[in-house]
Amino acid sequence: MKILLMGPPGAGKGSQAQRLIDEYDLAHISTGEMFRESYQRGETLGIEAMRYIKNGNLVSDDITNEIVRKRLFEDGDTKNVLLDGYPRTVKQAQALDHMLDKMNSKLTAVVNIVVDEEVILERMVGRRVCKDCGQTYHTTFKPPKVEGVCDICGGELYQRQDDKPESVRNRLNIYESKTKPIIDYYKGRGVLVNINGMQSFEAVYRDIVKAVGELS
Ligand SMILES: [Zn+2]
Repeated sequence: MKILLMGPPGAGKGSQAQRLIDEYDLAHISTGEMFRESYQRGETLGIEAMRYIKNGNLVSDDITNEIVRKRLFEDGDTKNVLLDGYPRTVKQAQALDHMLDKMNSKLTAVVNIVVDEEVILERMVGRRVCKDCGQTYHTTFKPPKVEGVCDICGGELYQRQDDKPESVRNRLNIYESKTKPIIDYYKGRGVLVNINGMQSFEAVYRDIVKAVGELS
């Protein structure tokens, strides 16, 4: 089973990914993590990747593909994987197809968690974080007992720059324009499933499992 999980910031992708990994014992292919690991091992690829990241750039397709290729071919536990944050471009998607082809394998499903912009805004704009202990709250879904004050340590709650409406809108626009070509690519390959992300965590998870089951 090979699943690619996609979804905009605020769609709850991270917690769904974790649940799928635990339940199906999937190897987690996250390029961000692989770049860091490779860097820590002192590998040339990792060092080059870190150079891009430190300069605030996306790591090149070639380096990214190579690091994924190594992981897919050289590690023993890649029969069942969950891809997260890769592919990020159509070129990477094509490279991935090519690698999987060589392994006589293919993506089982590309799961795209869909959430309306207004819902994401509501989720993210209401977030508050404690300045002292880092505990997170939400003005509607998880309010503190006293407004603006952390339940745990009494610290002051604040809104992160990233969670301000204009910043969230900006991130959503970037996500949308970057991922649209990839989504179109997979739609053409018949492996794309859109999942309604505006439901409870359990309902979203159930829909993912059902969709993946139908494509397996
Ligand atoms: Zn606190």
